Amino acid sequence: MSDTGKPVRPRTQVVRAGRRPEWTGGIVNPPVWRASTILYDDVDSLRERGGGDTHHRLYYGRRGTPTQWSLADALTSLEPGAEGTFLYPSGVAAIAAALLTVLSPGDELLLVDSAYDPTRAMASGLLRRFGIATRFYDPLIGAGIAELIGPATRAIFMESPGSLTFEVQDVPAIVAAARARDVTTILDNTWATPLLFPAIERGVDLTILACTKYVVGHSDVMLGSVTAGPGQFARLRDMSFQLGQVVSPDDCWLGSRGLRTMAVRLRQHGESALAIARWLADRPEVATVLHPALPSCPGHDVFARDFLGSSGLFSFALAGGGERERAAFIDALDLFGIGYSWGGYESLVVPVDANRHRGVGAPPPPTPTVRLQIGLEDPEDLLADLDTAFAAWRAAMA
Ligand SMILES: *Cc1c(COP(=O)(O)O)cnc(C)c1O
Repeated sequence: MSDTGKPVRPRTQVVRAGRRPEWTGGIVNPPVWRASTILYDDVDSLRERGGGDTHHRLYYGRRGTPTQWSLADALTSLEPGAEGTFLYPSGVAAIAAALLTVLSPGDELLLVDSAYDPTRAMASGLLRRFGIATRFYDPLIGAGIAELIGPATRAIFMESPGSLTFEVQDVPAIVAAARARDVTTILDNTWATPLLFPAIERGVDLTILACTKYVVGHSDVMLGSVTAGPGQFARLRDMSFQLGQVVSPDDCWLGSRGLRTMAVRLRQHGESALAIARWLADRPEVATVLHPALPSCPGHDVFARDFLGSSGLFSFALAGGGERERAAFIDALDLFGIGYSWGGYESLVVPVDANRHRGVGAPPPPTPTVRLQIGLEDPEDLLADLDTAFAAWRAAMA
């Protein structure tokens, strides 16, 4: 593969990125390099290669092999301006590493109220135990975040759009407020990926992907990443090494394989999900659709300004009924699997109970809510399936 250094567009980048000749030889897909021990020729070379910075140098299995480096390198090159990427055995492990990189006892974290539930649990469990306080903020706060930044505030954690309820955050405004006070910004960018929201370019310091979702794309691997902006990678890597974080080369190989088709998958997920969201918005059984590309979604204006497109996950609130009627709807679906996670090729559905967690800002819809992950099936089949399930819901309501 010739590397002319010419800048290429992101969809070309996902195909080419990370395939350095010294890691792949002539092989198209970077091969699996499995290792714990690395053998040295003599004591001198052991001393020389073991010392100093081991970045991209075979040293010991825990520091990775070209299989892991290739995927990390590819994710870095999808974020213009990024300094480097570290990989983790899950998205939650990536979130933990990002937070522990930045926070120390006595510090305060500002955490968006619409964050992924395990992120909240980490704040109220691990972080609190180590003397780190958390303040939750309204996902629509925007530049108003400046008023919450106090002397102990070290980090602002964002997730946009928010898990379950999809509020879109004004990331540039929050980043500007954080910069002015020397506060580190962390973004969970799993929904958009760098293809729809290039976070480092938008000024975020540490951007997180649950690669389990769109990077892997086939519902068969757990994987996470943190990509660091200018001046951030050394401390991220240092903390991750101390935590002993390493991902198996086999899982990274699957991640790299998934990444090659991520742009084309994402485009189809996005197109199908938007068509289905619009169809739902016209249904009498639906109270509201929480899809960032629709005006009914809180923060839609910010979405239209900042994002390059939408992906395949959104929620909608039913027009009435309770737990039993919602279950009748979900159980009647045939092509939507009932299960957690998302980003794979198959459609999924889960009930959403956002009110359980929320305390700040506008409350989520009061009626039973459903989250859909729109897969790569023919959207006409998915619409027919949803139509049947609405009949089951109406029957349960009668
Ligand atoms: C799934 C998810 C995670 C966690 O990823 P895992 O790989 O399941 O640990 C983090 N953030 C968001 C927004 C997610 O949807």
